[in-house]
Amino acid sequence: MFDTVIKGGLIVDQGVIRRRDAAIADGKVVEVAPDLAGGAKRTIDAHGKYILPGIIDVHTHPVYLDDLQGTSEAAAHGGITTVIHYAYAKPGTKLMDAINQFRTKGEAGSVIDFALHGGLFDLEHQSQEIPRAVQAGVTSFKMFMTYAKLKWMSDDYQLMRTFDIIAQVGGMGMVHAENGLATDYLEDKYLKAGRDPKEAFVATRPALLEAEAVNRAIAMAQVAGCPLYIVHLTAREDIEVLARARNSGYRVFGETCPQYLTLTSEEVFKNGALAKIGPPLRSEDDNQALWEALASGVIDTIASDHAPKPKTKDDDFFEAAYGSPSTETMFPVVYDAGINSGKLSLPRLVQVMCENPARIFGLYPQKGTLQPGSDADLVIVDPTVPHTIEQATQHSHASYTLYEGRSCLGKPILSMQRGKVILEDGELHAPAGQGKFLPTDTQKGAKDFFAAK
Ligand SMILES: [Zn+2]
Repeated sequence: MFDTVIKGGLIVDQGVIRRRDAAIADGKVVEVAPDLAGGAKRTIDAHGKYILPGIIDVHTHPVYLDDLQGTSEAAAHGGITTVIHYAYAKPGTKLMDAINQFRTKGEAGSVIDFALHGGLFDLEHQSQEIPRAVQAGVTSFKMFMTYAKLKWMSDDYQLMRTFDIIAQVGGMGMVHAENGLATDYLEDKYLKAGRDPKEAFVATRPALLEAEAVNRAIAMAQVAGCPLYIVHLTAREDIEVLARARNSGYRVFGETCPQYLTLTSEEVFKNGALAKIGPPLRSEDDNQALWEALASGVIDTIASDHAPKPKTKDDDFFEAAYGSPSTETMFPVVYDAGINSGKLSLPRLVQVMCENPARIFGLYPQKGTLQPGSDADLVIVDPTVPHTIEQATQHSHASYTLYEGRSCLGKPILSMQRGKVILEDGELHAPAGQGKFLPTDTQKGAKDFFAAK
């Protein structure tokens, strides 16, 4: 007797789409086969539906309008079953304090399973805590190569030193790659000249200064022998740099986000401060280059960079905070824009939103796949349901979505975590605190990922 059997659906997993039934017991997938026999407490009819491993969003910031519980709820409504949050340790604070606080809050409130990245703002004082963080199950560490004016930027001396420390303990470096001092100079010059702030914003963060930082980070990480994960790639210029590093056998991973695949800098002129995100939205040609890089395997993951902040369209552009809500819309927007247009195959979408995130952070095959023995984290998608994205029906506490009025075809209608239904017909059935903390293992992850290639 199984707990649940899902019958008649098309399972998308490990690079293929197959007509299979799935049986679940004690929170795990126990059998995947055509026409499974045997009773179950609940049988779900999935004819005409796709069954995917639960979506994994490895880039969320639960420190703004949505806290750890709120972020997990918004994510769960979008078909996500695992999130990896940035535990930000602001200057003057300790990395381990941030990690312990995030873990405690997540265990109390998260409705889905979660892991943590360390977010370092003051490498000089925080990098020595990295070995302890790795022992605590936090094995990836983000650093900023930009935001000098905000005092978030790390210089090359500290970046090199930190890659060296991370390499020694088997962790993974992560960077926000933009040349922060060069963009700050350009910003000062344009503002002095009295240019419109929106125009200046777009003009002073050119793609070349992102690609330069991508290249510099790859070089330093490679010299240190440190695997590197580059968050939120936005531009065609980045792709060549990344492809060259990958062809040279460097252990470097690339991520992009739904906003860089589907929106352009036009949003800045239309929606003002609401569309202020870093790095900036770029051109249609960049959107296209990112889709191609996802399809060809140069970019490995899609994640949301969910950072909902209190903003209005008409806020002073340069005073306004960076960031936008994105986790709940991520899957439906990427599914509609990628699959319905033929830019991406469904098996590849599952690789970049489930399998690769799980592999890279050492969570595979517990997460990211539906093999016997894996956690029964899955999402059932009805490809025939049309829906319109509106802030009014979103679950983030942000007052807007950049996708307002966008029509999408295809929707998550049911999802499960460890065999329990957590989302069904738009209703959340996951109590606060159901989510478990997942230690990551990026040393295993980097090995596992490249062995699978
Ligand atoms: Zn971010």
